[in-house]
Amino acid sequence: MPSESTHFTLDESQIPTAWFNVIPSMPTPPSPPIHPGTKQPIGPHDLAPLFPMGLILQEVTTDEWIEIPGPVLDLYRRYRPTPLIRARGLEKALGTPARIYYKYEGVSPAGSHKANTAIAQAYYNQAEGVSRLASETGAGQWGSAIAMACSFFGLECRVYMVRASYDQRPGRRAMMQTWGAAVWPSPSPDTAVGQKILAEDPNSPGSLGIAISEAVEDAPKREDTKYCLGSVLNHVLLHQTVIGLEARAQMEKADDFPDVIIGCVGGGSNYAGLAYPFIPDKVRDGKQIRFIAAEPSACPTLTEGTFEYDFGDTAQTTPLLEMFTLGHGFIPPPIHSGGLRYHGDAPSLSRLVKDGVIEAVAYPQTKVFESAVQFARAEGIIPAPESSHAIRTAMDEALACRETGRESAILFGLSGHGLLDLSAYDRYFAGDLID
Ligand SMILES: *Cc1c(COP(=O)(O)O)cnc(C)c1O
Repeated sequence: MPSESTHFTLDESQIPTAWFNVIPSMPTPPSPPIHPGTKQPIGPHDLAPLFPMGLILQEVTTDEWIEIPGPVLDLYRRYRPTPLIRARGLEKALGTPARIYYKYEGVSPAGSHKANTAIAQAYYNQAEGVSRLASETGAGQWGSAIAMACSFFGLECRVYMVRASYDQRPGRRAMMQTWGAAVWPSPSPDTAVGQKILAEDPNSPGSLGIAISEAVEDAPKREDTKYCLGSVLNHVLLHQTVIGLEARAQMEKADDFPDVIIGCVGGGSNYAGLAYPFIPDKVRDGKQIRFIAAEPSACPTLTEGTFEYDFGDTAQTTPLLEMFTLGHGFIPPPIHSGGLRYHGDAPSLSRLVKDGVIEAVAYPQTKVFESAVQFARAEGIIPAPESSHAIRTAMDEALACRETGRESAILFGLSGHGLLDLSAYDRYFAGDLID
């Protein structure tokens, strides 16, 4: 019998002590990254100018469990374990027989799941003597998470922030500055890539692909600097698995087990973090679990992209990854405010979708905001627009249960709060968001 409780907490001692690597349980392992020059699979030394060896080894490991270092666990303790909440208000509002649970990552100081990997990445860099990190940020969530993590470990932090967001999101910029980061609008005059784009268009609004190119150029130029990113790569997804490992223990406390596991996908990290620890239940043990990845129809990578090798950035400088992609030149429509704007997706997630282990759905932003508002009114939390793609999907599953009378247990990831996205809500209420 499922528990009568609503809020499922664990205590500090139950924070997972190892990250879970899904690669050994995949029906087909992801293909290796390819060097853009030689077109050969890259080796660890090819990545050494960009990343510390501790993270490179995690990028290629086939070990199933990776121990979490003590200093990382100590910082996780400041906001983990995060709550798993039964969405009783939403269930009632929908009149569904389904049981809906959400795992809430918005309680981290940076407001999203991105802190889970930012802390780990800052730790491994500092442990290898790196004193400065360069990265990019779109809407600012990753930039704020890495700025916070750098402040914990005494690292300098340079963030290239997509120009359009830099101008429109002073709140996120101020958060990064509060944690001590130097934030530059991208394209910036500080890199060759930025100078070239500014020469062609001094008013370029920038894009995530351009900002990545700038940060990737910055790092190898300086002995003291490495690059880091907040999604897509194996080591990032690995760090996020604390989400699903905790959720699993919390579902046990709820005397329940998910029939459906849902999350929103930009580059794939929060969804992988929630879902991957349950993949062996389906692939190895044959449990009937449906995995559903939700993306915006304005950036429909998994549902409409092609599965092939592509660059991670606009300037074509990163290794080639085999993934679902809309093309490295893809720029989502500016009217779109729901986040999740990356042209590609994590190779492991892409492969699991390709192999039919995970399904993908896409929603237009007006439907997404409609459910964000419904969720806020039923549950209280104002969700990030990104996370609201998962809410929409969970609601549709719950409504399908109402039709059929099926009493499914639905688990979804609420990756962050939306308190710094209220201008997007404002535009939704003003009727300015179109699909
Ligand atoms: C960055 C972000 C996402 C999308 O990134 P993933 O790597 O796909 O998780 C989703 N939700 C929130 C709140 C984010 O900040």
